[in-house]
Parts: sequence; structure tokens; C-alpha cells
Amino acid sequence: MSLRAFLEDCARRGEVLEIGELLSTRYEIASVIKALDGGPLLVFKRVEGHPSFKVVSNICNRPRLMRALGAEHVEEAYRKLIEASERPSEPKVSSSGLAAEEHVMEKPDLGKLPVLLHYEGDAGPYITSAVISARSPDGNIENVSVHRLLVVGRDKLVIRLVPRHLYKLWRMAADEGRDLGVAISIGVHPAVMLASTTPVPFGVSEFHVANTLLGGRLKLFECSETGARAPAEAEVVIEGFIKARELAPEGPLVDITGTHDAIRQQPVIEVRRIMWREGAYYHAILPAGVEHKLLMGFPREAEIWRAVSKVVPRVVAVNLSVGGCGWLHAIIAVEKNVDGDAKNAIMAAFSAHPSLKHVVVVDPDIDIYNPADVEWAIATRFQASEDLIIVPNARGSSLDPSADQETGLTTKVGIDATIPLGRDKRAFERAKVPLTARAEAVIRRLLGRG
Ligand code: MN
Repeated sequence: MSLRAFLEDCARRGEVLEIGELLSTRYEIASVIKALDGGPLLVFKRVEGHPSFKVVSNICNRPRLMRALGAEHVEEAYRKLIEASERPSEPKVSSSGLAAEEHVMEKPDLGKLPVLLHYEGDAGPYITSAVISARSPDGNIENVSVHRLLVVGRDKLVIRLVPRHLYKLWRMAADEGRDLGVAISIGVHPAVMLASTTPVPFGVSEFHVANTLLGGRLKLFECSETGARAPAEAEVVIEGFIKARELAPEGPLVDITGTHDAIRQQPVIEVRRIMWREGAYYHAILPAGVEHKLLMGFPREAEIWRAVSKVVPRVVAVNLSVGGCGWLHAIIAVEKNVDGDAKNAIMAAFSAHPSLKHVVVVDPDIDIYNPADVEWAIATRFQASEDLIIVPNARGSSLDPSADQETGLTTKVGIDATIPLGRDKRAFERAKVPLTARAEAVIRRLLGRG
């Protein structure tokens, strides 16, 4: 249940592209990841100035994510994720035997890690795949979440803390005048990563969700300096404390929208120890790349799927589309019973994912992963005077530059692009050309598949 085992499986299937040329963490690796975005899993074997590490990226595209969850199709993956968030289970914990402890840097130097500088205008090198865990001062509540980390010194990071669960734990510790101990894990199994971005209530540990997802096979260890926990098979673990009072400028960084996010005063992490496995794989996620969108958006797709399933007979699939930043736009294919079902689906989707801005609901014959097909449904099945919902001044995403930057308010739009039930269905159906076996053979040859 390690990243390494998952990578080996991908290599056996011929999905791994190894890059043997020497490349720099300064823009060079990011530019290669960007050029091959969404394609093969990439392993950079020679990283300039970092001989002990390999950089791995694009671990997850949709098919690999399905495999990481042991799911045959997307509905099964949603179901597994929802079940895991409803039935979290306690992982095994050990105090030693950690793979990551093969190398320990007692006097930490973050400069030794191959942290990438991604985009022109970024504030500096950013760790983008950090799974961060912390516990409440009484030890009873654990939270695990993913945050971007700006490297600002040998032993200093600045963390972007949106006011959610880790922020709450940080405030709880700060109220007692204490710094918050954290374990920062880099290079974990995709299921652990996904569990960490799955919305569960405060008090539920995302490690417990990950353990259920992995069939009870997640192993954790307790870090000696901080008491925070990390997956025993993580490639790299950084131990540190989020300072109770020290803030520093964080940003700009290109986030999921592909635009530069604002500079904000954010908490500083003081790093105490850095550990890594022999031949460690450092996981780099390109901001605004397909992997970033998928890991952040997929658990939200599951939430939307669940919520919309309660109001319409069947939800075939949900796509937080790449063009919609994997976060702001949802395309939902539903089977409806009565007119009005699609509008209820729109409202359910907005409530399931508060950052959602635009929703398009289509019939099951539309390929929701193909933007041209979705546009065709809007062109031929949608009348704005009947099928449009506009909700002004709702809460949106802080990542959307067009939202009000002071209040965070945005306007939400829902588009019902399903065929109206009262009309003759044939008028809306895509025309087909009959296909004979002989013609099909020719087509296969011309397309290079036969
Ligand atoms: Mn949480």
C-alpha cells in the first residue's frame, strides 16, 4: 500500500516514462511535466543537485485513479470513496520500522529536497503534494489535509491555511500558547492522497478514511518530535511545528485556475527533522495540471454524485471538467423522470460543492468528458428563457479571480441541457450512419487500429 508498489504496478503496465536527462528543479522539470500533462506517469531519474532523489509526477490520470481505488468504473469509485468516508477505520500504528527513516536529517535543510519552482512569477519553490497531519492538544482529534508549502529557508516553510480543519487545530493550539506539531508526508499511495482531500466532518481522521479505502492495510507511525502521524511507507516525511504567532507572506503561486493567486500573510512552519527512504521518489504535482485538478476535484465529484442521486432517478457520471479548473464547472449526466429533475440536480450540485460556479446537466447520451459534445447539447437542447438558473451573490471559491475578492461572493449559473420530456425525442437525437462490417474494417485500418 505504498506509492512504490503502485509505481511498480504502473511500470509493469508500460505506463511509466523515465527521463534520464539531467534537469533542474528550476522551471525545467515543470516545463516537461506541463508539456506531457495528463499523459504517462513521469519519473525524472537525474535531478540536478539532488542525486538522492527521483522526481515523480502525473501519477494520477482518471484510469490510474480508478485502479488506485480498485474500481472498474467511475460510479464504483464514487461509491467506494463515499463508503470509506462513512465508515472510517483505525489504521495500525507502529513506533519504528519506518521505511522513511532510512535517512534522517537531524539538522534539517529543505534545500536538499528537489522542490520545484514551477511558474514564472511564483514566490519561490513550492511543495505541492504535502499530506499534512496534526492532532488536537488533547490528542483526541486528528486531521489530515493537503496544503501548498512555500520554501523560505533551510528550515522554514509558509503554509497556506484556508479556515478549515487544520486551521482550527492551529487556533486551538495557539489559544494555549503552543505551536502545532505536524507531519508532512510526500510520496504516498494515491488512495491516501485522495482520502486527504475528501470532505469529512471535523473530528474524523482522513487517515481512517484512507485505511478503509485500502482495505485496512494502511500503516502509520508516530513521529518522535511532534507526535503527529505519517504513513509508514511515505517516501519523505518532514516533521515540524506551525508557529502559533509567526506569519509571513505566502504567494503568489499559480493555483488550480492557472492564474496567480494573491499574496497573503500565512503561518510559518519551523522544520525539525527530514526523513526519507533510500532512492526516494519526490512527488511533484504541477499546479493547474490534470493531476492537481483530479486529486482535488475527484472527491467533490463523488459528493455531487451522492447529492444529485438523491433528487433524480440516476446520475450516470459527474465531470469537474479540466477547462473548469477541475473545481468550478460540473457537467452532470442524469436520467430524469420528469421535467424539473434537471433543475433539482443543479441545486443539489451547488449545495454539495460550495465552490461550484457553473453546472451543465445533460442526458446520458452526451459524453461529459468531451467539451464539444457538451456544447452540442447546449446548442440543441437548451433554451435560456426556460432552462437557465442564475443565483447572484452566493459563496464561491477564493481561487476564482472573477469572484468578489473582498467578500468571496460569486454568481452561480445552472444550465439544463436535457431534452424536454413533452417533445418528440427523435427531434433531438443524434443521427447515425449505418455501419457495415466491411466499412468498419476500412475505418479501423484508416485509424490505425486494425
Ligand atoms: Mn478534516
